[in-house]
Amino acid sequence: MKKESTALVVGGGLIGGSIAWELAERGVSVTLLDKGSFGGEASTAAAGMLGAHVETHADGPFFDLCRRSLQLYRDWTERIAGRSGLNPQYEAEGIVRIAYTEEDEAELRSRLPWIGDYSWLEADDLRRLEPGIGGEPRGGLFFSGDHRVHPVKLAEAMRAGLERLGCRVLENTPVLGLVTSGGRATGVRTGEGLLYADSVILAGGAWGLLPEELQELVPLLPVKGQCYSVRPNGRTASRTLFTKGCYLVPRLDGTVTIGATQLEAGFDKRPTVEALAALHASAVRLQPALAEAEFLRTWTGLRPGTPDGLPYMGALPGLDQVYVATGHFRNGVLLAPVTGRLMAGLLLGDPAAAAELEPYSPERNRPAVSTGP
Ligand SMILES: Cc1cc2nc3c(=O)[nH]c(=O)nc-3n(C[C@H](O)[C@H](O)[C@H](O)COP(=O)(O)OP(=O)(O)OC[C@H]3O[C@@H](n4cnc5c(N)ncnc54)[C@H](O)[C@@H]3O)c2cc1C
Repeated sequence: MKKESTALVVGGGLIGGSIAWELAERGVSVTLLDKGSFGGEASTAAAGMLGAHVETHADGPFFDLCRRSLQLYRDWTERIAGRSGLNPQYEAEGIVRIAYTEEDEAELRSRLPWIGDYSWLEADDLRRLEPGIGGEPRGGLFFSGDHRVHPVKLAEAMRAGLERLGCRVLENTPVLGLVTSGGRATGVRTGEGLLYADSVILAGGAWGLLPEELQELVPLLPVKGQCYSVRPNGRTASRTLFTKGCYLVPRLDGTVTIGATQLEAGFDKRPTVEALAALHASAVRLQPALAEAEFLRTWTGLRPGTPDGLPYMGALPGLDQVYVATGHFRNGVLLAPVTGRLMAGLLLGDPAAAAELEPYSPERNRPAVSTGP
């Protein structure tokens, strides 16, 4: 009988969860470990914008990857809902990107030649689209194709669905290191003992979990983001509103998530009053009616940042059977479906997945070896 292939996914965020899902659906026996609870870090701190257009600033393979993931979203969330019986709250509403400054207008207009079928909206057009917009906007873009999801609901549904798919989810189980033998990984070390598998996927978000000798080659930096949520006093925009300094994401329960700050402060996750005040000032300029809203709560998360802004997805250099999928920075919720699909393809030997992942290889920072004259 053919031996069942086994995988250990280290990190239960949406990235590790999505990889575990795709592998389990393809018949791999998967164990997923998290040091805390499934989805307890960046993945549920996120606002859940699926901002393929609003978040990218240049044409190229990364923009294509973002759009591809966006296209997968409806079917992916339907599969997760079907398996779990829970609703991830995917909503196909667009994102209105508003410019208040000349510089912001210039940056947005510079995207028009490559961003797709979008055209510039003057201030009056914007106000007709979303009458609650405040201040003196110069204009903007309505990215009708950029959608949203509720990250907390998505993580809950994914966790329940993974178990129904037969994936073992071990929470409160920090991974302390890799177990290796003859140049390949054979498992991981936890406080409870050793776990063995055919392959190990490191999806630890900002924590990285990379072996010490590779941390310089595959650098990661945690980027703190703070959000807060409110219950507006009356009707608000049905679309996500986004400007420099803040965005407002409406939820099905009538609340609004307002985010997010961006600060490199190591692993310090404390929310601050200063960040909250700055966010609120931007939010009220964008939608003055929010001044009357009921405050609900504030929270932070650590985005997994990389020096070149691109994620690491691929085989780890120097050690067989170890893969890495992290560094998705501001777009890990958006990129979860495509990451799961491509990483599962890579592990199972699909050359097309390997080719598509090439630009995100963890080896891309390795200095070229000179062969001499
Ligand atoms: C405020 C904020 C707003 C955001 N908004 C958006 C948005 O609107 N749209 C979007 O697409 N993205 C958004 N993001 C980015 C997105 O949240 C991240 O890119 C994404 O969640 C990364 O997912 P991940 O699974 O790699 O990391 P995480 O969700 O952080 O998961 C990593 C997991 O690994 C576990 N782990 C770490 N070390 C170990 C260990 N030693 N052993 C076991 N487990 C370990 C952690 O406990 C954690 O659960 C936002 C992020 C923040 C902070």
